[in-house]
Amino acid sequence: KVITQFRKAGYQAIDRICDYYYELQQSKFPVVSQVEPGYLRPLLPSAAPDAGEDFQQIADDYQKYIVPGYTHWQHPSFFGYFPTGFSFEGLLGDLYSSSVSNPGFNWAASPSCTELESIVLDWAAQMFGLSPAFLNSSGTGGSCIQNTASDSALVAIIAARSTYTAQFPDAKLEDLVIYTTTQTHSLGVKSAMVLGLSTRALEVKREDKFSLRGDTLRTALEEDRKKGKKPFILIATVGTTSSGAVDNLAEIKEVVLDYPELKIHVDAAWAGLSLVCPEYRDKFYLNEINEIADSYSTNFHKMGLVNFDTSPLWVRNRKYLTDALDVNPPFLRTAAGDAGTTIEYRNWHIGLGRRYRSVKLWFVLRGYGVEGFQKYIRKLVSLRERFVEHVSSSDLLQLVAPPSLALAVFRIEPKQPNEALPEESLNNLNRLFYGRISARKEVLLTQTVLDGSFCIRFSVGSPRTQEEHVDKAFEILTHEARLAIESWKQ
Ligand code: PLP
Repeated sequence: KVITQFRKAGYQAIDRICDYYYELQQSKFPVVSQVEPGYLRPLLPSAAPDAGEDFQQIADDYQKYIVPGYTHWQHPSFFGYFPTGFSFEGLLGDLYSSSVSNPGFNWAASPSCTELESIVLDWAAQMFGLSPAFLNSSGTGGSCIQNTASDSALVAIIAARSTYTAQFPDAKLEDLVIYTTTQTHSLGVKSAMVLGLSTRALEVKREDKFSLRGDTLRTALEEDRKKGKKPFILIATVGTTSSGAVDNLAEIKEVVLDYPELKIHVDAAWAGLSLVCPEYRDKFYLNEINEIADSYSTNFHKMGLVNFDTSPLWVRNRKYLTDALDVNPPFLRTAAGDAGTTIEYRNWHIGLGRRYRSVKLWFVLRGYGVEGFQKYIRKLVSLRERFVEHVSSSDLLQLVAPPSLALAVFRIEPKQPNEALPEESLNNLNRLFYGRISARKEVLLTQTVLDGSFCIRFSVGSPRTQEEHVDKAFEILTHEARLAIESWKQ
């Protein structure tokens, strides 16, 4: 009986999801949710029901109470954060994978779960031009899907720490230092908090486009070496969150030749997907990644069309991970695992059970093909270019950093020198401007601070975004900028 009920409810769910996407495409509702904090509690019972309820009732309440509380990340006018990926292929893959609720922690837990993941990640590595050393089929390197880029960094740091302390058993943990930059995602600090280690955020300069330079790294390493500190891993970023900056891996490569104990993790959570387009490979240091990265991560759930979440981590040597994370209690032993002929993914990350995410990745890679990914990335970049053209022709707005892929960072900054304002006033004016934009429900943009300047990010990602949405967003921004300047003057 329950299967019959599910069949009916399932068809209805697909219908409702399709309706949602038709309406989203036509911007029938605003991108920002209209609800206020705490809206949901008064609408729902204060405890779970004693007796089970039927599918239909739950599905109707979902439409009524839950959908209105969504921020519509797939809306064509979503320009905030880094948008998350979505495709119908990915959705179908997720549906199939959750239909078997599979914890896939080792090969025997479901052979296809491990094998599909190891195959599709090799496909992905090849489509990005990663070195064959990173392929699962190499038998030495390999990759597995972590929960998020933050988990990837944490796991990379754990592996680096383990390698370092095995090599230098007398090293004191309090002397170990994780190198980041002032533009590294907060994942560096978060990992350090979790592991009780310290970080050093290296300075990056506006005139260097917020990119870490080799000299800065070398000076820090020399200073720390003199102080007895032990920098053991550098988290380099290809495509920072605030401005899409890229650390200068060519210069970093020259420095790390003299510091072989320093491991390199490259966080390309957002920009990594652009490597599918050959024209971005030099700019984003693919060769250097292939030469010096001990680990590399990117998020298919950002510019990769895969529904949240799919965050692969590639390593040059899988022992890097398994030496740090291998646990083998009797209850997890299997003949295949003991024989050492299979990948046991539980030893490549922190949790034991893992989501069966390779199915959706497989669906999306097949559904789009390499060409589909290239077309999508190029379209996002061309939409961002259109936005930048608008900004360039505006007498109110200016870019704060060079645009990067689908991201542009801007603020109100009068172009006439006689209208120039001190930095603190500009920041206050832009905070006021951003407050006005945030109050508008039909576009969503997010804020950041670059080198002390408060600014606003315009980040394109939805496959539904068209030129008209960019134009409309720019119109709203110009309107709000004028009003912000007027009220600022009063
Ligand atoms: N790294 C960069 C450069 C990011 O921009 C982000 C998120 O936007 C992250 C890491 C964190 O990603 P996740 O949510 O997968 O941990």
